[in-house]
Amino acid sequence: MKINFLGAARQVTGSCYLLDCCGKRLLVDCGIFQERALLERNWKPKPVDPKSIDAVLLTHAHLDHSGLLPKFVRDGYKGPVYTTTPTVELAELLLRDSARIQMEDAEFKAKRHRKEGRRGPHPEEPLYDLNDVERTLPLLRGVAHREPVDLGDGVQVRFLEAGHILGASIVELVARENGGTRRVVFSGDLGQWQAPIMPDPAFVSEADVIVCESTYGDGDHSNGNGQSIDDALTEVIQDTVRRGGKLLIPTFALERAQELLVHLGEILHAKRVPRLRVYLDSPLAVDATMVYLKYPEFMDDEIRATLESKRLNDVRSLLQFVHSSDDSKALNSKRESCIILAGSGMCTGGRIKHHLRHNIERPETTILFVGYQAEGTLGREILEGASEVRIHGQNYRVRAQVRQIQTLSAHADRRQLLYWFEHFSRPPKRLVLTHGEESKALSLAAHVRESLGWDVVVPRYLETVEL
Ligand code: ZN
Repeated sequence: MKINFLGAARQVTGSCYLLDCCGKRLLVDCGIFQERALLERNWKPKPVDPKSIDAVLLTHAHLDHSGLLPKFVRDGYKGPVYTTTPTVELAELLLRDSARIQMEDAEFKAKRHRKEGRRGPHPEEPLYDLNDVERTLPLLRGVAHREPVDLGDGVQVRFLEAGHILGASIVELVARENGGTRRVVFSGDLGQWQAPIMPDPAFVSEADVIVCESTYGDGDHSNGNGQSIDDALTEVIQDTVRRGGKLLIPTFALERAQELLVHLGEILHAKRVPRLRVYLDSPLAVDATMVYLKYPEFMDDEIRATLESKRLNDVRSLLQFVHSSDDSKALNSKRESCIILAGSGMCTGGRIKHHLRHNIERPETTILFVGYQAEGTLGREILEGASEVRIHGQNYRVRAQVRQIQTLSAHADRRQLLYWFEHFSRPPKRLVLTHGEESKALSLAAHVRESLGWDVVVPRYLETVEL
């Protein structure tokens, strides 16, 4: 048995692991590389022949885990992609959206190159298009959490709750070979314990090898000033209403948006703030929310009880889903205080940019960041206190209040990863750390060696670990 690391090795994106066992070749995830310096890898053929793969196991819908599937299919893959049922639906939304963005980008690039009279390093084509996505979707096979999937030749897998986003899974693989049994556990992306909506990550009792993410491997989520998320949100809303402004929240379409809706619903229901409208202004987030509502059995008991009891129905009318861009534009003329959730999460595109243009120069506006802002993004610039920013080719002075809530994260921190490791009944023969910046993965490796005494490796790109 051996695992070859084709991505997320000493960096975060492009998750893709090739597992050879019992004469089978399996791929765990087929993610797109998103770090600027690694984008080139998306264009190169995968260092494995797609036709040689028997099955793909998909941990969750995020593009850094699923985003290269259509290219893999274009390059010749025809086999099944096993995952959970909600992941099938979320991947459908995200892959179509990704293809559309790439097609638009390619067209834009072609236009610019024509104007500049040059050709870019890549042909002016998208990495994949909607046709490739449509050929990929029928390969996706959805199963329930904990339902055994028999891959044949003595290999069985189960998808267990990872608590990260709807349908997200830990993959547990059991291989029976030469009279012996080996267990490999892939963590996928692990969520936080006691997060709203998602169930806690599942504990696994046994593994010979654990392949685990290390996104926050070097430390613990800070509690800020120890304030709860509801308290922090309440304070920001009250302050914005007092100033008579709008509250703009740049948000990711998946998980963060739905999590915020739950928090806002509770705050409004408890009458901690005046009744004001909440607009979810992102077609992708609206579609994703609909998928969430379809699968209460993939959520935690508390949110299921809330949905069943219809306890929040008194504030439901305050929430408006905004589909069309005309309805989105109409929000500009509204004068009363309201809350607008719009993508993209780091203000790099999407409708949030329009809302920023109209409101960033108003001192009564609040811009609230609830997610990580990568270097070089508009979100990061605003968060770091730029006095002037450029949006859609025009300069705007930042007069709005800028606030941040840091505790929202869909990833376990170091303390929580350790907590998960401690629940295995015996140490694995090896722990393999992936999906983290090099310094974070190495820091977690040192910490686990010291506190648990486990054998830990941090593989490099294309490195093979023999078991
Ligand atoms: Zn993820």
